[in-house]
Amino acid sequence: MFRNLFKKFQAAPMQGAGNDPVCGMSANGAITLSHEGKIYAFCSEDCKQEFTLHPEKYASK
Ligand SMILES: [Zn+2]
Repeated sequence: MFRNLFKKFQAAPMQGAGNDPVCGMSANGAITLSHEGKIYAFCSEDCKQEFTLHPEKYASK
């Protein structure tokens, strides 16, 4: 069961939460923020805070 889960993650690392818009790293979905109807995922609280401070810089149009 766990082995199957691991395989899935390896096969599709970019699926699910998507990438951190601030630093570009893949986010695991633990830290997310809703902005203008879209959900953004972050790798860390620091990146989330950066997005919160400058959403116009990072939000996809
Ligand atoms: Zn980040």
